[in-house]
Amino acid sequence: MAASRKASDGLGPTGRPLPEFGVPGPRTTSGPADIIALCNQKGGVGKTTTTINLGACLAEYGRRVLLVDFDPQGALGAGVGIHPHTLEHTIYDVMITGDATAREVIRPTAVPGMDLMPANIDLSGAELLLVSEVGREQSLMRALRPVRNDYDVILIDCQPSLGLLTVNALTAAQWVMIPLECEYFSLRGVALLQDTIRKIQERTNPDLELLGVLPTMFDRTVHARDVLGRVVEAFGDKVFHTVISRTVKFPETSVAGVPITVYAPTSAPARAYRQLAREVLARVDPASIGPVAADPDGSERDGPDAEQLALG
Ligand code: ADP
Ligand code: MG
Repeated sequence: MAASRKASDGLGPTGRPLPEFGVPGPRTTSGPADIIALCNQKGGVGKTTTTINLGACLAEYGRRVLLVDFDPQGALGAGVGIHPHTLEHTIYDVMITGDATAREVIRPTAVPGMDLMPANIDLSGAELLLVSEVGREQSLMRALRPVRNDYDVILIDCQPSLGLLTVNALTAAQWVMIPLECEYFSLRGVALLQDTIRKIQERTNPDLELLGVLPTMFDRTVHARDVLGRVVEAFGDKVFHTVISRTVKFPETSVAGVPITVYAPTSAPARAYRQLAREVLARVDPASIGPVAADPDGSERDGPDAEQLALG
């Protein structure tokens, strides 16, 4: 059985020894929120799903979390039950018209400790309007500045393009996370994304760092394992040990408008995102990580991943 094999060889799904991720205590760094942009110009790779579920898990660990919808499709809002057409003001008003302040557009979500700065289709016009602005790359950074001290972590869900909106996200962020689906060709576009990241580091944001590459849509096929092997070859330690399996649970949660931790709190995919939250905190705030202990849901350390793979 997968579980016993895994436990005996100690290797995680990425083929590397699986470290133990301790349970995070309170944040140890003071000051403004850590800002993480979730970025990949390919659509359908799990950016929005990861923003919602990583955010919800970070909130479970006591972090104050702001999700920023930076895609005019507004899927992030819908995914947490806040529908774009019901909104009077969005991030567009904060960045472009000045008709609302950041605090005025931020909404609480059903997850305690997790708020949303919503977007809607208006945002698609922002790109053109920003082109002629002074400091056009810093527009999102300016919009977030007044609320940055209210949160521990801010996650920016980027649109699937490398245009000016994404440049704004990468300029506002300290960290970029790349969700990458375990499919052939998924690595093709990443060179272009890495190029963009390098340019941002040179021109608008020297502090930007790659937080990690998150393999998503993983299944147990030879094909997916092969792709995962190539991703590890290309990115080494930057690849998260946590791998998100392909499961119908995520489309279901999108329809329900809640994170997986609410929809199916003890399910394997919920545990995978909890592990990802611990892994992310181990990278952004290592001093906050306490001793290794059982998950809040009582599962064993080796259990989640093995079971997640088995349940697929
Ligand atoms: P992106 O934001 O990169 O475009 P999404 O997070 O919106 O990607 O995911 C695209 C679609 O795939 C959505 O319908 C979502 O529910 C589904 N999805 C996301 N993650 C998974 C997964 N691990 N397994 C199966 N389906 C997934
Ligand atoms: Mg999306």
